[in-house]
Amino acid sequence: VTRLISVTERVLVRTSEFCTTTTTVVVADDDTCLVVDPGVTPGDIDTLVADIRGRGLRVVAGFSTHPHWDHLLWSDSLGTVPRFATPTAVQAAADDRERSLQLAQELAPGHDPRLFGRLTPLASKAVPWDGPHIAVIEHRAHATGHAALHVTEEGVLLTGDMCSDIEIPLLDLGGPDPVGDYRYALELFSARADIEHVVPGHGSVGNRAALQRLLDADRRYLDELEVGGGSDDPRLTEDWLVRDHQAQLQHVRRVPSKRVR
Ligand SMILES: [Zn+2]
Repeated sequence: VTRLISVTERVLVRTSEFCTTTTTVVVADDDTCLVVDPGVTPGDIDTLVADIRGRGLRVVAGFSTHPHWDHLLWSDSLGTVPRFATPTAVQAAADDRERSLQLAQELAPGHDPRLFGRLTPLASKAVPWDGPHIAVIEHRAHATGHAALHVTEEGVLLTGDMCSDIEIPLLDLGGPDPVGDYRYALELFSARADIEHVVPGHGSVGNRAALQRLLDADRRYLDELEVGGGSDDPRLTEDWLVRDHQAQLQHVRRVPSKRVR
């Protein structure tokens, strides 16, 4: 049983065995908390809820970093609270609901389908709550409406499904400029000051040096992908990642990046 671990005083992370998925809990001074990307199995969420209660915390909001099924989950036991996402992600989650709900039911059965992807669009570039300031860094790398979160006072960057030590950059091949959009998002992360901890949506929590290594590794992968390479990236350890890499290679061969670097 994995428990919530403290990354900083006010940022806690739990890691699921399913695809090493992380869930982040940001704690406010009054012991309320925000839950980012709860997942993945119902058992995971039960453990998460027990941990949250055990620490005397009360969930007042949720956040979905992007509209992929494993980031759209929720449970009654987490409470009936707003679950924020970028407006673009809310729309994409609604458009793709049937397919992603089917994936959730296949791969993590037992969730209440009524709660799946029930999101509230953000009206600003910060999470609207009374806890530590959380800047929303919206872009469209990996998925339309994808958002990274920067818990500024804690120096923590939650990268969603980017900057992972176990996954190559996974591009949104349905987007207008998958490689260019990915590079742009990496620049947004680089431009953030005072980041001491990185929490990828799948993978290991790291320090500032780890973030720099991940940014470098992701840029190197994109550089190589664009000239038909990238196949020796050490993160290509699973069949599904190799398949996604092959699809990305085929895509960039057909449609080179438009963005001028
Ligand atoms: Zn994803």
